[in-house]
Amino acid sequence: MGHNSAGFFQSPSVSSLLKSKGRAPPKLLSGPEFLTAAHSAAQWPPDQGAEVAFAGRSNVGKSSAVNAITQRKALARTSRTPGRTQQIVFFRLSPSQRLVDLPGYGFARVPAKLRRHWGQVIEQYLRGRTALNGLILVMDSRHPLTELDRQMLAWCAAGQLSVHILLTKIDKLGRNQAVSALRHVSGEVSGMEWVTVQAFSAADYTGVEQARERIMSWLEDRGVDDATRAE
Ligand code: GDP
Repeated sequence: MGHNSAGFFQSPSVSSLLKSKGRAPPKLLSGPEFLTAAHSAAQWPPDQGAEVAFAGRSNVGKSSAVNAITQRKALARTSRTPGRTQQIVFFRLSPSQRLVDLPGYGFARVPAKLRRHWGQVIEQYLRGRTALNGLILVMDSRHPLTELDRQMLAWCAAGQLSVHILLTKIDKLGRNQAVSALRHVSGEVSGMEWVTVQAFSAADYTGVEQARERIMSWLEDRGVDDATRAE
């Protein structure tokens, strides 16, 4: 299956995608360790090896997705409290492979100044980080593609960064609604060949395996040689 979201959708695996339940994570994703929580770029780890980052509107289920994918109950913190959302959190998977939890966005109550700061930090990270090999963009399957989600896609386009969209909380939709949510988002991004889409649920583990495969492929794309060198 190529990079094309439409291809993703048309493939016969749509129904298996909605059904696939998670097993134990691949070894690389199973033991992430907290590395650092950074307020500014100066605190980011050295820009080497490979990273995959998670982004999403607050409360869409980003922390739950990170935790389901890595099978750690509380690796990523919930972003329900706006004050806790300003940091970029780095987790180490191997000497040169990391997962990165970006601040949740879209809080109605956050002052404009803070929102601008969020925008600057995220844009700087997405456009300037060489180690970043792909972005997992988490959206609530019932309210996908908000204005800020589209802003994220635009920054990724500018930074030539691959994006994999998780339409999460899919367990809250009936089968027809789930298929139509997938079809809607796939259609919206069909012109962006660097974007793929899948259904996901941290509640019943729909699509966890598929998300892991995408993350592994991005990490191994650049990280393995570096990891070998670093060890
Ligand atoms: P975050 O703010 O994006 O990190 O969101 P959280 O992971 O904290 O999730 C927000 C709320 O949605 C919590 O109450 C979760 O239990 C719930 N939630 C997250 N993922 C799912 C899911 O896949 N299915 C269902 N039904 N609820 C979910």
